[in-house]
Amino acid sequence: MPGESICYLNGEFLPLLEANVSVLDRGFIFGDGIYEMIPSFAGHTFRLKEHLQRLINSLDAVHINNPHSLSEWSDLIKELVDKNDANHQAIYLQITRGVAHRDHAFPEESEPTIFIMSNPLPESQKAKPVSAAVIPDPRWNSCDIKAISLLPNVLLRHQAREKGAYEAILIRDGYLTEGAASNVFIAKDGVVKTPPKGPKLLPGITRNLLVELLQKNDIPCEETEITESEVRNADEIWLTSSTKEIVPVIELDNKKVGDGEAGEIWHRSVDLYQSFKDTFTGA
Ligand code: PMP
Repeated sequence: MPGESICYLNGEFLPLLEANVSVLDRGFIFGDGIYEMIPSFAGHTFRLKEHLQRLINSLDAVHINNPHSLSEWSDLIKELVDKNDANHQAIYLQITRGVAHRDHAFPEESEPTIFIMSNPLPESQKAKPVSAAVIPDPRWNSCDIKAISLLPNVLLRHQAREKGAYEAILIRDGYLTEGAASNVFIAKDGVVKTPPKGPKLLPGITRNLLVELLQKNDIPCEETEITESEVRNADEIWLTSSTKEIVPVIELDNKKVGDGEAGEIWHRSVDLYQSFKDTFTGA
């Protein structure tokens, strides 16, 4: 039961269902805040430094003062992991501009609201293949900020679901950006490609690590613009995210991707990712 987990709110650890914030919180009123999602495996947070750096980048981008030092953030997160029972956990952090009377302009004085919760992650991360639908990307030009205002992403995921697909693969001006809640990789003739970082997509922690691991292990991997037709003609497509890791897409708009099964490079990528995780978590 999620209610039995322990969360952190503004200086206090307490049961999730007992945590409350004001209806005047700007997170509630405007979606004025940012978030992070950090996985923890068997008590070890994974890529914590990278996640905290992205958290700081997001705070800076929306002009919310960072309320903690890196070591304070890291201690808070580790304490929360210890207070919760699940072996593997997804740690969700949300920081909003705080409570103020409703006015679009930033309040002159407000304390950021800091909320952290833990959700259990499944014991095995080995992803099941999924289907996806190509959908135009209507979002703003700051998709590299991990903002809590996720209405476009929620609607895009819903559009995908209405087409019977799991994830939306987004195309902006003819080029691939990312998924509604994931980054996207394609493979064609042995070469892996993913769109370059920039304002049109979130710099995924999983994406960045996977690019590094592929390049280190001599699997050609390019960060480059990808056209819609390259996506539609790919041998393999994968989605990446911290909680789902590397997910093969075997059907795109009701058409098989490649031979309709998780591809050979996907298998190699998952092995590389898993061995990296094992050494990191001491498994
Ligand atoms: N893009 C979007 C829009 C996302 O929501 C996510 C997951 N939060 C990602 C990419 C993947 O990022 P990460 O690998 O850091 O989880």
